[in-house]
Amino acid sequence: MLNQDTIASFEIDHTRLRPGLYISRLDHFGLAMMTTLDLRFVSPNSELEQPLSPAALHTIEHLGAIYLRNYTPERLNVVYFGPMGCRTGCYTVMYGSHKVEHYVPLFVGMADFILSWNDKIPGATREGCGNYRDHNLLAAKAAMYKWRNVLESRDLDYDQFHYPT
Ligand SMILES: [Zn+2]
Repeated sequence: MLNQDTIASFEIDHTRLRPGLYISRLDHFGLAMMTTLDLRFVSPNSELEQPLSPAALHTIEHLGAIYLRNYTPERLNVVYFGPMGCRTGCYTVMYGSHKVEHYVPLFVGMADFILSWNDKIPGATREGCGNYRDHNLLAAKAAMYKWRNVLESRDLDYDQFHYPT
């Protein structure tokens, strides 16, 4: 019987999940495939590090959306980008299906874009945003700096691109 109180991503063992980039879903819509990526910036329920502040995550949402929708050739395949309610990462839905490694340069590019941003936050106006005062570029950059290192490192004692099994 269908358990209506769970979805696949609740079944991942969050006690073993670490920062990284993971494919959390593949969905077929007719002939089309959609890939849902889990951009995990900090470990869930960590005793050592806090989840992102709402303001930091909000800034990543704005700048990440600008990058993914306007600045990268992959923009035509971006279906959705947005924050996780638990504030440990973001989701991205991409049209098509590739191995997770295919998407790493895209998100290294997104992190670099946020790290190099030194201007007003795009869209952070009363007209363009539901909570335009609530941004923190410095904290967004700190999170992207750490996450970028995770994406670039290959010598960790865990696989930052595949869910623990
Ligand atoms: Zn906003």
